[in-house]
Amino acid sequence: MDLAYTEEEEDFRARLREWLAKVLPSLPPKPSPDDWPGRRAYDLGWQRTLYEAGYAGLHWPVDAGGRGATPTQHLIYLEETEKAGAPYVGANFVGLLHAGPTIASEGTPEQRARWLPPVLRGEEVWCQGFSEPDAGSDLAALRTRARRDGDDYVVSGSKIWTSHAEVADWCELLVRTDPAAPKHRGISWLAMPMDAPGITVRPLRTLAGSTEFAEVFLDEVRVPVANRVGAENDGWRVTMVTLSYERGTAFVGEVVACRRVLGELAREARGNGRWDDDALRRRLGRLNAEFRALWRLTQWNVSESQRTGGVPGVGGSVFKLRYSHARQELYDAAAEVLGPEALDLGREWTLDRLSSLSYTIAAGTSQIQSNIVAERILGLPKGR
Ligand SMILES: Cc1cc2nc3c(=O)[nH]c(=O)nc-3n(C[C@H](O)[C@H](O)[C@H](O)COP(=O)(O)OP(=O)(O)OC[C@H]3O[C@@H](n4cnc5c(N)ncnc54)[C@H](O)[C@@H]3O)c2cc1C
Repeated sequence: MDLAYTEEEEDFRARLREWLAKVLPSLPPKPSPDDWPGRRAYDLGWQRTLYEAGYAGLHWPVDAGGRGATPTQHLIYLEETEKAGAPYVGANFVGLLHAGPTIASEGTPEQRARWLPPVLRGEEVWCQGFSEPDAGSDLAALRTRARRDGDDYVVSGSKIWTSHAEVADWCELLVRTDPAAPKHRGISWLAMPMDAPGITVRPLRTLAGSTEFAEVFLDEVRVPVANRVGAENDGWRVTMVTLSYERGTAFVGEVVACRRVLGELAREARGNGRWDDDALRRRLGRLNAEFRALWRLTQWNVSESQRTGGVPGVGGSVFKLRYSHARQELYDAAAEVLGPEALDLGREWTLDRLSSLSYTIAAGTSQIQSNIVAERILGLPKGR
């Protein structure tokens, strides 16, 4: 493991910094959290800006239109864009980090040509239709059924917690194509156009008051067989392939942001007198150590994935487990710094505190991450 950056990597960082300093001041103002058409336009606009500058799909393979950057370059990109206050992927999340890499790896040449360029150019938004009311942690229990009818699948069922469904053009959809097969074997991966007849999107309001995700009801929706990525009933393997693209860089920007918030909290506490409280100072100090350790763990995970050729390690689970709790502790500390003002939804950090509660659920719950750590790292017996 080598945590030092090479000269080439530092050069990449310097050029990126220079570009960010030039381009960020000319960005339009951010839309409000519930202005979904505005958020879509803003996020796609940023993606177009990246595309024109050659930064789109940095970690995608070159033959898929990306730059084939190493995990370390991707880490530097995420660190620098967050430090500079650049927009995050936002509505492009699924297209850039999930569906796009899946199609790049498993799609036919026609599928790659159809779906990848619009993601890179910031023209189309994807959402992820995986979870169902009775299939979350146990995703392979999904029941949304796809029945073959000529050149189409006819899809019926329902999905839940579908982020960005309201503004998506496409959905990466997991469906059951063989109900008789063992549960991991009868699943297929489809690209479903979100304007197909039979789709109803019902937004769900979160604790923080916004409609980040939705229920998606599918009633006899026709999806061309040509939109299936990978072989029929091989969707589980296709989904697992996608995960290898994260290579330890998920949440990088967020750790950088949390470290910045910590500094801001200390400043706020100094200004409002709460800094005199020894227990609060100790709490902030401990969090500072925690986030420094998480940053080192990120570098270690990235360094490891570079060494092993991009194979995802279980280090990602250790990180996710600790990070999601540290984030909640950070915003609890923010509430202590703010005092009664923490009840004001318009106050900085209050909405972040509410949304931090979802971190121990989204992208694999803490219990599931603990199971992975217990079984795959510690070698403890598998639970029944
Ligand atoms: C902000 C956010 C965004 C999301 N976006 C999307 C999206 O875009 N697309 C999508 O498809 N899904 C999305 N999800 C859904 C997410 O993937 C699921 O919520 C998650 O996988 C957990 O599934 P569940 O909610 O059904 O809970 P369940 O799986 O029902 O779990 C309930 C509880 O039981 C525990 N549990 C379950 N199984 C075990 C076990 N084997 N051992 C120990 N404990 C266990 C869990 O940890 C949890 O505490 C999102 C969720 C959030 C919070």
